[in-house]
Amino acid sequence: KEERSLNFLEEIIEADLASGKYKTIMTRFPPEPNGYLHMGHATSICLNFGLTKKYGGSTNLRFDDTNPVTEDTEYVESIKNDIKWLGFEWANELYASDYFEQLYNMAVTLIKKGLAYVDDSSSEAIAEQKGTPTQAGRRNEYAERSIEENLQLFADMRAGKYKDGEKVLRAKVDMASPNMLMRDPLLYRIKHAHHHRTGDTWCIYPMYDFAHGQSDSIEKITHSICTLEFVPHRELYDWLIKKLEIYPSHQYEFARRNLTYTVMSKRKLLQLVNEKHVAGWDDPRMPTISGMRRRGYTPESIREFCDRIGIAKRDNVVDISLLEFFVREDLNKRAQRRMVVFDPVKVVITNYADPDGEELLTSENNPEDPNGGTREVPFSNEIYIEREDFMENPPKKYFRLAPGQMVRLKSAYIIKCEEVIKDENGTVTELRCTYIPESKSGSDTSGIQVKGTLHWVSVKHAITAEIREYDRLFKVEDPSSEEGDFKEYINPDSLKVIRAAYAEPALKNAHYDERFQFVRKGYFVLDKDSSTSGMVFNKTVGLKDGWKA
Ligand code: ATP
Ligand code: MG
Ligand code: MG
Repeated sequence: KEERSLNFLEEIIEADLASGKYKTIMTRFPPEPNGYLHMGHATSICLNFGLTKKYGGSTNLRFDDTNPVTEDTEYVESIKNDIKWLGFEWANELYASDYFEQLYNMAVTLIKKGLAYVDDSSSEAIAEQKGTPTQAGRRNEYAERSIEENLQLFADMRAGKYKDGEKVLRAKVDMASPNMLMRDPLLYRIKHAHHHRTGDTWCIYPMYDFAHGQSDSIEKITHSICTLEFVPHRELYDWLIKKLEIYPSHQYEFARRNLTYTVMSKRKLLQLVNEKHVAGWDDPRMPTISGMRRRGYTPESIREFCDRIGIAKRDNVVDISLLEFFVREDLNKRAQRRMVVFDPVKVVITNYADPDGEELLTSENNPEDPNGGTREVPFSNEIYIEREDFMENPPKKYFRLAPGQMVRLKSAYIIKCEEVIKDENGTVTELRCTYIPESKSGSDTSGIQVKGTLHWVSVKHAITAEIREYDRLFKVEDPSSEEGDFKEYINPDSLKVIRAAYAEPALKNAHYDERFQFVRKGYFVLDKDSSTSGMVFNKTVGLKDGWKA
């Protein structure tokens, strides 16, 4: 495996371990259970779990479930499933909501220190009083409340005496700070809403800034890694830890990972699902981990992709073809080769005396894998080849089938096209060919050299399967930065369905966890829509980077 240089977080951790600042490190992955995980999350997962895998220590899975309205247990289950599938194990499954009582007590501590107060102002008034970045804000009369009064009011907030928005708890920090987030930020808000875990126990909920750092501290997280938009939050993160005199976790930031031709925000992905632009969160066109799994991406290739591109300190958009490159590289090593004809034209081999039973030819499952083994492929006097592999009036250097021209049938014989049969519209309906009996693959004594090799299936042995081929979900590289609504840029032709392709019979035994290369076609995987009445295959990725803008 190629060596890559250390990323900036690895440098920090190596220095922290070398200096003895920490004996062991602790990270966490903190998803909000308000959607399915996407490739951006995969970056964060590979980073957080990867660091403790490399340096020892452990990683918690902490559901950041402090917002009761948007969260759901369906999401919790999908998130756990996706992390496991990616190949990582968390030390503890934790929920920020399990800390609600502790967080409440921390807020009480701040009140007792004179560092927090209950404010009755409207959110508009609070925003107005905060001032602007160039102009200091001003405190209102509520900031003058006594500690006793604040303790009583905060207890009353918890007890449900007030309606949503009637009161908030604010930290008393600095209304003149150049960092707007330090101007007496909100710590708690009232929300009479049912929570997916705590039910109706609480009607006040902590803000992100009051829950996240405190949860890190409770879990003794050493390196709390988040994305760049939290840089301005770090000052408050540190302030709260210091004033509460709790375990000093540290926050580090890296750039969000984005991919071309897609969107990577749960809010936008949810719109695609709800408005039925896709078939669900796990639609194979979605940049979600579940979508990529269904598409046939392997966890190995996603991990390799995340590791190789590393992390940055500036937001960046990575070309999706780079991810596809890693997928293709991995699948080439593990995919079983099978022959499938998508758009058939019948070939009748006139001099082949179809024996009673059948002739079984032997074909390698994977030339890249010495232990891949072989399989038997039945041959007969009637086969299908791809319609596009025949041309009646070919240009020079056309090595596929044409009148009077020879090609090899993969793992079988050389055939020669003798006659073209057409219907009244001029459409080719059948090709009459002869075969060279001495040209059998593996024991060819014919001495004939041909340049083209075609995939094929025997007509009477073929099974049919539905094929789903995917293109980019969006027509533009960065739909979120375009004018207007991002959904205006959805590619209307991102799904192409072939109702009945003809496959060699070995494909009948395909399993969901197997990967296939359909010879000359690309990589494919069995889709969950398959049933006893029909198989469905998803195209994972093409054999080459054939896609052009
Ligand atoms: P979204 O905008 O999709 O809702 P989020 O950051 O709100 O993303 P969280 O559930 O809070 O979603 O994310 C969990 C973790 O994953 C966070 O630590 C977050 O920083 C990280 N993360 C989310 N999106 C990306 C991304 N595009 N690149 C890198 N890390 C990400
Ligand atoms: Mg978040
Ligand atoms: Mg979000």
